[in-house]
Amino acid sequence: MDEFNQNHDWHWVRKAILRRDNYRCSICRTRKRKAELDVDHIIPVRCGINPFGKNNLRLLCKECHKAKTKLDREANL
Ligand SMILES: [Zn+2]
Repeated sequence: MDEFNQNHDWHWVRKAILRRDNYRCSICRTRKRKAELDVDHIIPVRCGINPFGKNNLRLLCKECHKAKTKLDREANL
């Protein structure tokens, strides 16, 4: 994830997703400030998908993102 945050393209994709999803976490449906939201890849990038494909992106708040990452790890995705 970190290598994408440093990427200029990623900056714009992130902005577009924030606007598209109206600053709302897609799991708990809470509206948050930008700093409390992460753009999540629904299908992990390491599965070989396009990291900038907007259909595979959604907003998650930090708490939901943490929970989801943990689930992914347990499911061995
Ligand atoms: Zn959330």
